[in-house]
Amino acid sequence: CGVYGVYSRTENVSEMTYFGLYALQHRGQESAGIALTDGAWMDVTRGMGLVNEVFRHQLPHMENQYIAIGHVRYSTTGSSLLANTQPLMVNYAGGKIALAHNGNLTNAAEIRHGLEQEGTIFQTSIDSEVFVNLIARSRKETIEERIIESLKKIKGAYCLTIMTENKLIGARDPQGFRPLCLGKLDDGTWILSSETCGLDVNDAEFVRDIKPGEMVVIDDDGVKSYMFGEGEKLASCVFEYIYFARPDSVIDGQSVHAARFKMGRILARESKFEGDIVISVPDSGTTAATGYAYEAGLPFVEGLIKNRYIGRTFIKPTQKARDTAVKLKLNAIRSVVEGKRVIMVDDSIVRGTTSGKIVRMLRAAGAKAVYMCVSSPPIGYPCFYGIDTSIRKELIAATKSVEEIREYIGADGLHFLSIEGLKQCVDCVHADDMCYACFNSAYPVAQGEKPAGDSKY
Ligand code: 5GP
Ligand code: SF4
Ligand code: MG
Repeated sequence: CGVYGVYSRTENVSEMTYFGLYALQHRGQESAGIALTDGAWMDVTRGMGLVNEVFRHQLPHMENQYIAIGHVRYSTTGSSLLANTQPLMVNYAGGKIALAHNGNLTNAAEIRHGLEQEGTIFQTSIDSEVFVNLIARSRKETIEERIIESLKKIKGAYCLTIMTENKLIGARDPQGFRPLCLGKLDDGTWILSSETCGLDVNDAEFVRDIKPGEMVVIDDDGVKSYMFGEGEKLASCVFEYIYFARPDSVIDGQSVHAARFKMGRILARESKFEGDIVISVPDSGTTAATGYAYEAGLPFVEGLIKNRYIGRTFIKPTQKARDTAVKLKLNAIRSVVEGKRVIMVDDSIVRGTTSGKIVRMLRAAGAKAVYMCVSSPPIGYPCFYGIDTSIRKELIAATKSVEEIREYIGADGLHFLSIEGLKQCVDCVHADDMCYACFNSAYPVAQGEKPAGDSKY
């Protein structure tokens, strides 16, 4: 998911949040929402679909609006339903609160069960709802204390933007799984965004990353910082650098593009395939493919073209329809690949279905050989911290060796980036302060239980 927040006495906070969510659209395409306040009223507009579908006709607006938060959703727990869209908004004894969450909690089901036993009613099946309930039930006096008390009970991955009638609040879990940064404009406007690309779109200046275990509270007096969870083992998600984040973002001081480019370079050093050209599986494989070509001294060419208008297609679950879906999305350029030994770079193999189809497509277009290079290690284990579980249900690397995967996708060669190689690519952050659990099963927070809601793990 992607989260956003704006505090401004001068700018149009609704419009800025809309632009911010647009820039974070890659972090979730299922639903979007914006919550607004003018200091007295609070309102939320949410819907299913892309940002420009949800806000097709008009943006939410209030006469004296000055705080907004926003969310784009990619479901990890809870079904894709209108009831599960965010920001969540509740009334409680202390006032109104709206909250947007990116991540996945590992003890949500346990907390939820406890609260339900005490009579709390839940309206959604997403784990994020435990935050608002814990905050509402806290006996502490100030909102800062209420939130901190609640966060201390929660385990797992979360980046939050929270809004009260007079404060914008951001928080990042003590392990720092997901990114969250702070930006500002010269006129005193403050912004919270999952990624720096969400600051750039509003011409905001990057101030800093929110620290793992930190809560920031923004009001007319500026930004106050509270540390509520220092000293935990850090575990920022390496998959943000591999696939999830946008390459033009910088997370914890590490450029995503630079990390991906280096993954390609190291992949070239490790794999040593004899090829004529390097192509990528657009768009997610492109940065690593350019790094591969640079290191190998081979031309990087467009061998596959992606249909730009693909979005989310409604596909009937028949084999024929699934085959058509890949062809709708990608097509090979015969004049580029014919008679060539093609090195194809993608960022990851999940189920192996796309890769298999693309290899066949390239052969049908006349490729002499197809070597597949993947800029991540094999994904053998599910993620419990907020990367889509549904797509990870049938992880091919959970049951097949590299050689068996190569055979399954029908490539002439297959190489996955090693974990050691991957660690060299995130050298601006401490490589040991990251999570690699989907590759090596070293889960930094005991997954304890299956993720809450109706996900399949
Ligand atoms: P496969 O065909 O192996 O199942 O999928 C591989 C493709 O899925 C890769 O091109 C990769 O970019 C993409 N991918 C990797 N992780 C995710 C994810 O969490 N969500 C979605 N939607 N795509 C992913
Ligand atoms: Fe990221 Fe993988 Fe860890 Fe999940 S398990 S947080 S995807 S590195
Ligand atoms: Mg891809």
